[in-house]
Amino acid sequence: MAGEPQSDCLFCKIVDGEVPATIVRETETTVAFRDINPQAPTHVLVIPRVHYPDAASLAAAEPGIIADILRESREVAELEKVEHTGYRVVFNTGSGAGQTVFHAHLHVLGGRGLNWPPG
Ligand code: 5GP
Ligand code: ZN
Repeated sequence: MAGEPQSDCLFCKIVDGEVPATIVRETETTVAFRDINPQAPTHVLVIPRVHYPDAASLAAAEPGIIADILRESREVAELEKVEHTGYRVVFNTGSGAGQTVFHAHLHVLGGRGLNWPPG
């Protein structure tokens, strides 16, 4: 069923605590944790507790959780003290855009200059 945990999903396992992660913040609907391969001094992933393969399917099914994730990204930016220096939030959607983990997640990147457009 849509949103149900997937036994073969790495990020569902992080939500369950089966795979360890450095948790930054948790809410009823979201978990924020440090990326294992950080691309910037601040690199945090904000994910929904429910399983959807990407942000588009989450937005279609449960748009309120997309709002929760964006609200959390602001909290993370404040905690990491990048809210004034600038930070980037990204949903890679589809393998052509670099998505490798198919449980929706928002990257929060900051703490260094970020070029635009990205590569
Ligand atoms: P994507 O490429 O799908 O947008 O992003 C997936 C992100 O998950 C990557 O930045 C990758 O470094 C991160 N990642 C992959 N495996 C793990 C893991 O086991 N733990 C954590 N904390 N991050 C992971
Ligand atoms: Zn999942």
